[in-house]
Amino acid sequence: MDRDSVEPRVSGFPGAGAKRWVEYHHEFAAPSTYVYDFVWDHTAPAIGPFCTDVDGNVLLDFTGHVGAMPLGYNNPKILDPLDSFDLVDPLKIAGQDFYVRAGSDTASDPDIPGPAGLMERLTDISSHYGMDTVFLSNTGAEAVENAIKIAYDHTAGTYAITSEGAFHGRTLGALSLNRSKGVYRRNFPEIAGVHDTPFCTDRHCTPETCDCGFFHDNSSWLREMLADGSGYVDADEVAYLILEPVQGEGGYRFPSEAFMDEIAELTAAHDIPLVVDEVQSGLGRTGEMWASDHYAIEPDVIASAKALRVGATIAREEVFPAEKSRLSSTWGAGDILGAAQGALTIDAIQEYDLLDNATERGEQAKALLREANLPGAVDVRGKGLMLAVEWETKDRREAVMEAALAEGLLTMGCGKKTMRVLPPLDATEREIRLGVELLSTAANAA
Ligand code: PMP
Repeated sequence: MDRDSVEPRVSGFPGAGAKRWVEYHHEFAAPSTYVYDFVWDHTAPAIGPFCTDVDGNVLLDFTGHVGAMPLGYNNPKILDPLDSFDLVDPLKIAGQDFYVRAGSDTASDPDIPGPAGLMERLTDISSHYGMDTVFLSNTGAEAVENAIKIAYDHTAGTYAITSEGAFHGRTLGALSLNRSKGVYRRNFPEIAGVHDTPFCTDRHCTPETCDCGFFHDNSSWLREMLADGSGYVDADEVAYLILEPVQGEGGYRFPSEAFMDEIAELTAAHDIPLVVDEVQSGLGRTGEMWASDHYAIEPDVIASAKALRVGATIAREEVFPAEKSRLSSTWGAGDILGAAQGALTIDAIQEYDLLDNATERGEQAKALLREANLPGAVDVRGKGLMLAVEWETKDRREAVMEAALAEGLLTMGCGKKTMRVLPPLDATEREIRLGVELLSTAANAA
């Protein structure tokens, strides 16, 4: 398959093969999990965003496996360096760097980048926040869970502050911080003392034009909540404020600078640790390594996962508990292949200037999507290649997504009526143009 010339081609989706595999999966899988009708044929050609499914359909995948595949399929930028290591079974090893080549050296002649190599890279890309320490885990929820655990441990506080529309994962601690769909929290016991603020719904807003309720009467919700004497939350009792710098599941909401300036000012003034959930927005997706880098905020803890292939909680050493076993996990840091993929992804982003590419291709995509005047679209937004189209209704979004699939373009919903568009970070001009053309055809057909 030639990445520069391949065209999507769909003869019926989902085909008989995909249906059969999805049925087989459902026979055993917990009924509340979802499975896409997209079943990849791993023996058929795939490259970058293009992939062949089990029925021979060639698709342009702009979902990146829910953001967990930052460089698409079979990308030589990851596979070539991975191939250069003589990997042997077992590739999943509980613990740490048990897998090295005799004679290799940690710095001057490193072997396959395992957990330590990944942690070194993560501290490099977070050093502007003074962060020098990492705890690895498996999933985004675990990265968040450990982020809040260390924040509770580091402060005397027992309160937390989260935002409307937030999504932080499905474990009991993380789900207590969710403020998006009811299905995530309903009837589950929650950690106590979590307070909410509105989250910016207008990326251009100022305190004067704000319409989400965060700013009002020359003040803000958070400022009033924490005000000495008159506020209803004692700032000294707050263990952390947690925030997705760009809300993901809540609908790809990009906050205004005014909103983030206020968060930065108040967390600093009240000395409240700021935990940022970069599980969806991090690792170059927005054209900066962390979405936080676009704003004036100074995070104290970063939770990352998805594109990293493992979970990671990153902070300054003093924020982590020193007591042995306070944080630990059998499989934390254990997947040598996951750790290597994460490390090589960071290397590829740096070596191939993929932050600049994400920014340029993102600008191209937004310009083309706006020019296309998609019928039923009410907003096109994004930073880097974290892109979204919002539709007038949920039904319209669903209809466009279905029509897009028939054209060979895979997209995903989020929020109430928004569609995520997630090309790989090394997307080319042609791929962006092709994606917009297919979406435009779909929107006109829907
Ligand atoms: N935080 C954010 C912002 C997410 O988008 C997600 C996953 N959608 C999670 C946490 C949870 O990650 P995981 O599914 O890997 O547990």
